This record gives sequence, C-alpha cells and structure tokens, in this order.
Amino acid sequence: MTGLSAVVGHRDVIARLRASRARGRLAPAYLLHGEDGIGKRTVAEAWTRLLQCRAPAGDPAEAEACGACVSCRHHAAGTHPDVFRLVPREEAATVAIDQIRELQAALPYQPLIASPRVVLIPDATLLRPDGANALLKTLEEPPAHALFIVMAPQRERLLPTIVSRCQAVRCSPPSQEAVIGHLTARLGLPAERARALFIQAQGRIGPAIQAASAPGEAAPPYEDVGAPSTIADAVRLLDLAQGIGKDQEALRGLLAWLTLWLRDVLAWRLTRDPDRVLHPDRRADLAWWADRLSTDDVLDLASGLHAVWTSVHRNLNPQLVAEAALLHIAQRVNAHPPRRQEIA
Ligand SMILES: [Zn+2]
Repeated sequence: MTGLSAVVGHRDVIARLRASRARGRLAPAYLLHGEDGIGKRTVAEAWTRLLQCRAPAGDPAEAEACGACVSCRHHAAGTHPDVFRLVPREEAATVAIDQIRELQAALPYQPLIASPRVVLIPDATLLRPDGANALLKTLEEPPAHALFIVMAPQRERLLPTIVSRCQAVRCSPPSQEAVIGHLTARLGLPAERARALFIQAQGRIGPAIQAASAPGEAAPPYEDVGAPSTIADAVRLLDLAQGIGKDQEALRGLLAWLTLWLRDVLAWRLTRDPDRVLHPDRRADLAWWADRLSTDDVLDLASGLHAVWTSVHRNLNPQLVAEAALLHIAQRVNAHPPRRQEIA
C-alpha cells in the first residue's frame, strides 16, 4: 500500500493534511477536488491509514502509518470496521440512497478499532440529488468521532450546501517529471514507453498506471496530427474532428495531446535536445513545426487551447470545438514559409 511519502505528486496537499493531524485540528469534513485520475483517492486512503494508525512513525511532518498495528493490519486486509466507502454498487452508475441510510445507521456507533471513523466518498458527483440531500444531514451534525473525505473532479458540480460543510483542498495533477519518474523508477518501464503512456493518459497518473499494466493499446487517432502531411490537409483534420463527434472525453484527449505537442515544439525550438521532448522519436516532425512557428506563435496557440480547455465542460459541441482548434493551428502552421534555423 502506498504511504503518504510514496504518493506521486500532491506534496502541498499532503503537508497540509499531515499538519492538521499534527496540530490535532481536524475538520469534520474535507473536500479534495481536482481532475479525475490524478491520485486524490490514493492521498485520501493513505491519510486515512495514518489518521487511524495506533503507532505512527516519523516526525509529524513526515508521519506515516506503521503498517503493523491492529488498525494497519485491518487496512491491509481490507476489513477495517471504521472505514466506510460510498461508491456505486457493481453495475450501478450512482450511489443508492439505501447505501447512505446504511451509513447513517452505522456511523454513530463508537469506533471499534480506530478513531476517527472515516467516510470516504471517492466521487461525490455520483451521489444522486436525494442521496446528497440525505448525506447533508449527517454532514451538518456529524458524530464527534467521524471524519468525511469527499472527493470530486470539480466542486462546482456538488451541492453548494455540501461544499460549504467541507474544508476544500485543491489537488493539482502531479508534474510530468513525477509521473514519468514513477513509471520508470517504480514500475520499471523504459523511458520511451513511459513518455508515450504519459501522453496517452493526458498526463494523469491513474490512467497511465492502468495502461502500463494493459499494454498493446493502439495509439489514439490524433497522434497523427503532428505529421506535416496531416496538419496541411484540411479534409483530414475535418474527418478527425468528425471522429470525435459528441465524445467529450475524446475532445479532452485531443486538446491534451495538442497542448503536449506544442510544448514539445517549443522545447525543440529552444533546445534541439531529444531528451527534452516527449516525442523524441518524432524529431523530424517537431523540427518541421519549429521551423514554421515562432515562440510567440506557439505560446499564442497554447493559450488558445487553454481557453478552450477551461470551457470544455460547458455545453459545447465537441466536434465543432475540435474543428476550430485544429483549423486554427493548421492555419498558423501553414501561414509561414519555413523560418531559417536559428540554431544549427
Ligand atoms: Zn499502524
């Protein structure tokens, strides 16, 4: 099991959680919010083990669960009676109201092994309105021995009344170095494969680890956009956008890929160093782009993508957004004749 020190990224969040434990000033409820797949649940589970450990090891700022006490042993066996997890039952899309009622019946009892009794809600957007309202009653008057860790990709998607009961903790995706470092050093993947997975997973550690254990998946169709023959071909770009159709997740994939590609173009422009790019195998394509875009062009395009990205969860048509993004980049790339190479 991952201890807090071994979690990839999230150093500020973990420092803050450890500090609130060390000061003995725990809030009754925390809301960890940040994109799916970046490790919120890993943080929450590791912190729960620490909170409930009978003999934590290390200074308060570095504290870890001991791994050996009765509480830690129950965690390892998956049998801890003082941990509740509100997740949809098998094949259900949402958490059922009776699961919340069961929790409300059980939670008031004193801890059996370890205090606080912790309620983990890995994705609170999976609570239906009736469930969220029922849960609200418990959040308003929680038993003194209870602690809630609510998680969600965006806090705007939760009832404001729930958010206001929680201490909000914003979680950011781990850095590229941290994710790739984990894939190479801990999971033993070759650097090239780790970089490919990082791109495929749009920089998210969870999906990257999942993909690492399920190899052989085809590269996404937009990998091809970096090829000069593709970006110069408006018909192919429109086909690609059509392939995205109404799929929000595919659009996010495309935008993430484009962002990383532009990042590589910039890195190549500035360094011409294959070790600095995520696509070292595509040096020729990167050089082609770098000859056609100035640093300002790349930064402009990247900030345009960022603006699109932040509006994605509004009700935009994914196909039209993809078309606009691709054609805008193509227009900029194809507008200039190649620049002279500034660095030989
Ligand atoms: Zn322990």
